[in-house]
Amino acid sequence: MKTFVYITCPGVEKYRFSAHHPLRPERVTLSRELAQILGVLHDEDVVEAEPASPELVAEVHSPRYVRVVQTLSEGKPVPGCHVFGFASGDNPPFRGMFEASLAVVGASVAAARAVMDGAQVAVNLAGGLHHARYEEAAGFCIFNDPAVAIHVLKQKYRRIVYLDIDVHHGDGVQWLYYRDPQVLTISIHESGRFLFPGTGHPDEIGAGEGRGTAVNIALGRYADDEVWWWAFQQVVPRLFQWFQPEVVVLQMGADPHYTDPLAHAALTVQGWQRAVQWVSEQGIPVVATGGGGYSLSAVVRMWTLALATLKGVPVPNCIPPQFFLHHEVQTLYDTDVPELSERMRQIAWQFTEQSVGELKQYLRPYVEWEEPHEKGEGAVP
Ligand SMILES: [Zn+2]
Repeated sequence: MKTFVYITCPGVEKYRFSAHHPLRPERVTLSRELAQILGVLHDEDVVEAEPASPELVAEVHSPRYVRVVQTLSEGKPVPGCHVFGFASGDNPPFRGMFEASLAVVGASVAAARAVMDGAQVAVNLAGGLHHARYEEAAGFCIFNDPAVAIHVLKQKYRRIVYLDIDVHHGDGVQWLYYRDPQVLTISIHESGRFLFPGTGHPDEIGAGEGRGTAVNIALGRYADDEVWWWAFQQVVPRLFQWFQPEVVVLQMGADPHYTDPLAHAALTVQGWQRAVQWVSEQGIPVVATGGGGYSLSAVVRMWTLALATLKGVPVPNCIPPQFFLHHEVQTLYDTDVPELSERMRQIAWQFTEQSVGELKQYLRPYVEWEEPHEKGEGAVP
């Protein structure tokens, strides 16, 4: 068993834009509950964090933006608030969003500090709000907690990998560290040609001193376990070998699942878990966060499995009768597999193979790749 902490912060459950918004805080509370029922998580694993200070957040976001969030959170108008991302249906301002956002960041910061103090793994499932920009809310994200965690980790570490397995491009974190050679951002996602936020293409590789330290694995639509894992294996292990990270920030968005309503990827619970497993086997301290994931029954099972994997403990493959999901699904792993036509598989492979090839070309001045592997090698059996 690894030294493992599960971090929470009072108020994270109030991070809710509206009653019908897809980013539901139940995703986190139910994952924790299932992990507890299944014996993965115990009271002694749980650490309660303080909210982040606005001053700390203003070291990553603009101080002006932090004030705008606070003002809107108090229900006061901010003229021109649309330029800060709050006019769209994705991010409608809500009362208390300042405190709720500081709570989310506080838990990720506490996770970073726990690892700096010697924990092997620290997890904040409420975090992973990777789309927030320097001065703009985006894609349900107000403050970029992974970016603030990285900012704190930089006090101790000089080589940090941010690995983002959410189905959407981890754009906010990428842009905030685009010129920073100490932070290698890697995002594996459905290509921005088909999906929000529209970025994350192979030619985005960092700038200035940070050139070569942004990596984007852009997948075709309908990427299934096989395509996704092939692309991951083609790129990620080599990057770890090259960059030699001292710590990993892992954003565990659960929206690549085939039942997710907001994207077109077609992963199973167990296909997605392979990446979490791989990271946990590297012997590098991990700060893990949640992220997207809008099919409740998939997210809860994926995050429970992720907690077990990161903690290094076995987990029974069942959803007990007392847990609400039991009537919908009775196993942690998927037993159904997504139905994809031959044409869909072709679309996924063609796009992904080309895009991984391009990525390697763009990064060739910085990373020495090995000979290309055969398609399908290392695929999920
Ligand atoms: Zn997402």
